[in-house]
Amino acid sequence: MTTVNAKRVEVLIVGGGFGGMYATFKFREMGYKIQSFEAGGGLGGVWYWNRYPGARVDLPSIDYSFSFSSEIEQEWTWSEQFAAQPELLEYINFVAKRLDLNKHFQFNTRIEHAQWDEGRKLWSLKTDKGEMWEAPYCIMATGPLSVPKDPEIEGLQRFKGALYRAARWPHEPVSFEGKRVGVIGTGSTGIQIVQEVGKTAGELFVFQRTPSFTMPMRNVPLEPDYVAEVKRHYAGIRNAARNSAVGGTRPQSTRGFFTVTPDQRKTLLEDAWKNGGLAMLGTFSDLLVNEEANEHVAEFVRGKISEVVKDPVTAEKLKPRGYPIFARRPCLDSSYYETFNQSNVHLVDLYEQPILEITEKGVRTGKGEYPLDILILATGYDGLTGALTAFDVVGRNGRTVNQKWKDGASTYLGIMMEGFPNLFMTTGPTGPAALANIIRISENDVDWIAELMVHMEKTGQAVADVTPEAERAWMDIVGNLAKHSLLLKAKTWYLGANVKDKPLGLTLFTGGFHKYREYCEAAKQDGYKKAISFVSGHVGRAV
Ligand code: NAP
Repeated sequence: MTTVNAKRVEVLIVGGGFGGMYATFKFREMGYKIQSFEAGGGLGGVWYWNRYPGARVDLPSIDYSFSFSSEIEQEWTWSEQFAAQPELLEYINFVAKRLDLNKHFQFNTRIEHAQWDEGRKLWSLKTDKGEMWEAPYCIMATGPLSVPKDPEIEGLQRFKGALYRAARWPHEPVSFEGKRVGVIGTGSTGIQIVQEVGKTAGELFVFQRTPSFTMPMRNVPLEPDYVAEVKRHYAGIRNAARNSAVGGTRPQSTRGFFTVTPDQRKTLLEDAWKNGGLAMLGTFSDLLVNEEANEHVAEFVRGKISEVVKDPVTAEKLKPRGYPIFARRPCLDSSYYETFNQSNVHLVDLYEQPILEITEKGVRTGKGEYPLDILILATGYDGLTGALTAFDVVGRNGRTVNQKWKDGASTYLGIMMEGFPNLFMTTGPTGPAALANIIRISENDVDWIAELMVHMEKTGQAVADVTPEAERAWMDIVGNLAKHSLLLKAKTWYLGANVKDKPLGLTLFTGGFHKYREYCEAAKQDGYKKAISFVSGHVGRAV
């Protein structure tokens, strides 16, 4: 890759979601010369792109926010327990303005090529505008859910109506009033869309392949007294979050399912259902490892579906079977099952009538054609690895990330990869991404990277690469934990099962965020001796 006319800084940051925002702030505050890039027209990552009707976070807003600035914690006030996308974007822009972050970003700019130069100890990035940038350090804050995936269905381009992708939703409002609308996909995204669009659509057709388990969110406005109390205790709340498995304040239990009587279990599950949110997952300690316990909880939720959905045939079709509850990302809703009691809402079971093709007019299944004015795709992402395999990231000896990960993602802590020196990821594969609060993980990862860079500066090191032994040891830890997890028993994006020809495997650390932090900490305490091989020389700052 030619480097003529390359612009030179000290840290290059790719991505303007939570990870990229914090990295930009952190490395600027450390005095590095930085340049950040974002493909979207503004900051926010998934919350910039996912403007679909009903988009809302499924973790409490007070947890789903930056913790590195106590001033911002005090200045910002959340209005709801689970914030909707517009409020999340408002928060993101508030933080950006408060910290003056936008000026460091080139927006509407995609990185097309990244290459390590062994001789000059630099990363070179090429943008889609043809610009070249160089720096000793590169941070890939590209996120676990940034590459949306179209369904592999014939004829998508033929459709003459309006086609919307949830993850690339237009900035202008879309009206469904009186329209015939189809939604393909019933994961977290599809469920949020269906319950919202069902309110106004003339007819809504929900094309369901695998039903999801969804539980009541029971969202509430946040009362001023509660907010004041949270603000008084934010330090303690954050501390508890950092030391929890999920990186948040969601209650966890040490109680095994079969350690209490059937009556007590029922009472606990009913309470969790009433309390809403992900309370049910935290009610017992063994729901992700004990299949029998898991099936009891699954059956409890199936019973709730029958209580809500009036038509027994529709209720039966909505009941997930054949995989453990929580093995797919558990969804939260406010009226999903109730929506199917409306006469304008129709469930199309794709097990009974698979989609054959998209036509000019709509969707054709084995049972006939469904003419539509609007078709919405909520068909998921090439998760965890997709952002770094979508373009060439070339490390030592010309090896690309695609080549390195051809049999599955391999990293150290989800932060570094052997053979890709001075390249860092936030919330990368084989870390706890998707299983814990993404903002807590982002902050942890950026802080870890920053401390390594300080160490390099102090000890006169120019290059840091993970040793093959350290990466193998980490992958053994991840693999051994995964063996016991019921997450392996569902076809999900966690496993790469939703992307054709993607190597199958659970590329997530399932030991909990608190344990993950212990591994991160141990590497530091050891002075990185076991984990990292260094090459001495000019340090990053001295360009
Ligand atoms: P997803 O969970 O991967 O769901 C994709 C859906 O599309 C599935 O129902 C899938 O069916 C269906 N699909 C894919 N290809 C299809 C085809 N050819 N024909 C028919 N159906 C097809 O994706 P998502 O709903 O976007 O959620 C992804 C992740 O984003 C979630 O797990 C969550 O982590 C995050 N998320 C969070 C929130 C929140 O915070 N509230 C909201 C939205 C998303 P199959 O399962 O049968 O393949």
